[in-house]
Amino acid sequence: AAALYIVPTPIGNLNDISQRALETLQQVDFIACEDTRHTAKLLSHYQISTPTWALHDHNEQYKSEQLVTRLLAGQAIALVSDAGTPLISDPGYHLVNSCRDAGIQVIALPGPCAAITALSAAGLPTDRFAFEGFLPAKDKARLDKLESLKDEARTLVFYESPRRLLDSVRALVEVMGEERRLVVARELTKTFESIHSLPAAEMLEWLMGDDNRSRGEIVLMVAGHRPDADELPAEALRTLGLLRAELP
Ligand code: SAM
Repeated sequence: AAALYIVPTPIGNLNDISQRALETLQQVDFIACEDTRHTAKLLSHYQISTPTWALHDHNEQYKSEQLVTRLLAGQAIALVSDAGTPLISDPGYHLVNSCRDAGIQVIALPGPCAAITALSAAGLPTDRFAFEGFLPAKDKARLDKLESLKDEARTLVFYESPRRLLDSVRALVEVMGEERRLVVARELTKTFESIHSLPAAEMLEWLMGDDNRSRGEIVLMVAGHRPDADELPAEALRTLGLLRAELP
């Protein structure tokens, strides 16, 4: 039936795709994707011959209109991205938004997502977390962003590129302090998967010790801010000072 199916694909390990995802990719009229060559590899691995169609980010709005027309004409379309869940730091927002406006059914399949995979193994609180996508590339914008998140109590989750990891960790030490716990999850579901958890200053030192420690695909997580004894409110500190002065 006419519908847009949101289909997550593996984030490294080709086996991480659901039975339902494979059936959907097999049955739809065509597959809208980021990079047709990239998606072709996945499809050929599973011997799926459904045609693909590129939904580029820079003209997504225009391409979305074309897809909506075809959906309204009764076609079933699957949306995939290069890896993981579409729309999570990936294209698809305009398309889903247009489908909702046009009254077209949008059916999301659950599946791999690097942020959730990383978070579930990090050992940081997961009851509340904030996904922040990629940090800004420019130093000033990155510092401003981290400054605005400094007192955030929820666990923070960032996507990071290997080229920028060191700069980001350096900025984190500067803004959130040497003691703030960081977790770097690298190459999840792949052969050289690793997860490291250290206080910010030690993490910086550890990463600087070997370039290989920053290679590949990375999720960077930051423990939420926890007010501790050193950060009592000004009023409480003043009272404490007065009390101390009175003690023998
Ligand atoms: N839509 C994807 C998802 O659901 O996770 C994310 C796409 S985003 C363009 C790509 C970023 O996701 C990478 O730069 C990296 O930060 C993260 N990522 C993707 N695969 C990963 C993996 N296997 N291990 C660690 N991080 C990964």
